[in-house]
Amino acid sequence: MTAATFTQGGKFEIREVVRPEIAKDEILLRVKSTSICGTDTKIIRNGHRKLKDGDRIVLGHEFAGVIEQVGASVKGFAEGQAVGIAPNWGCGRCKPCQRGMANYCAEYQAFGITRDGSHTQWVRIPSAVIAQGNIRPLPDNVSWSAVSLAEPLSCVLGGQTAVGLSAGESVLVYGAGPMGLLHILAARAAGAAVIIAADLNASRLAMARELGATHAVKSDTEDIHARVAEITGGEWLDVVITAVPVPEIVPEGLSLLGIFGRLCLFAGLPKDRAIAGLDGNLIHYKNLCVTGTTGGCNADYAKALGLITSGAVPVEGIISHRFSLEQLSEAYETALAGRGMKIVLTS
Ligand SMILES: [Zn+2]
Ligand SMILES: [Zn+2]
Repeated sequence: MTAATFTQGGKFEIREVVRPEIAKDEILLRVKSTSICGTDTKIIRNGHRKLKDGDRIVLGHEFAGVIEQVGASVKGFAEGQAVGIAPNWGCGRCKPCQRGMANYCAEYQAFGITRDGSHTQWVRIPSAVIAQGNIRPLPDNVSWSAVSLAEPLSCVLGGQTAVGLSAGESVLVYGAGPMGLLHILAARAAGAAVIIAADLNASRLAMARELGATHAVKSDTEDIHARVAEITGGEWLDVVITAVPVPEIVPEGLSLLGIFGRLCLFAGLPKDRAIAGLDGNLIHYKNLCVTGTTGGCNADYAKALGLITSGAVPVEGIISHRFSLEQLSEAYETALAGRGMKIVLTS
């Protein structure tokens, strides 16, 4: 079978790999849909801290498919069953694992990072993944391309839960890339009354407006403070979410919050650039909350699948390119060139 592979030390290849064999406590999944994530292209460019030099993995962690084969000792799943897979699992013993948040486990494992992932035809599902509840049955007649986006949506839901975004509130999302757009879709589903997209790119802002942002701010040419003051009638914002890795927006986002406001650092930041000028008195006098989130947990994955399959979060709107699973080269060429929004492969 053909797979998109990465070898630590810097080698990305589309190559033939052996179809996996499963043990009696494992499942073999036939991939029906899988999308390319910023994490995949980041691994190709920078490698991954979980990999040792020379380790080779099949990329891909956003996927859904049909169970091809069930190991003799596995209970509760059947051949031919349609399922989505939450890609992170943990040690099962630490504090985050006890809370069901393996995405914060120090020993977390993930498809497409520590184990062979989904940018190929078949994926071997290890026993720990089955035991930890990562496999979610799908309803009949799902849109395969939509359910592959349950994983990035689960990360977005984790971010919005951390800041408690609720109906009637105002939120500003920095960055209208795929993750920013998912934040806008999720904020709309949560009933946010004011949803402001901020970005430098006019066509991305137009897309944000189409998907439900009530306002768009072109942050290089417009005065963001003046716009937010005008939109909120001087009350400022309930929530700010950063979905772009720019340190300067952290103090700026903080200064846009009203009383009891919450800031979520959703995007990771460059390692070597500290955030300057964070005003602690703003946090003190306005009772602000600053937090951050990374990855998705199983509970949010299940919630994301429900929002997608019910139509409450119409994720198809962020898919810019569709390929067949045989077109891995073309799909990665598009992703590595930074073209478009979300790229989905189906079979
Ligand atoms: Zn992802
Ligand atoms: Zn753990």
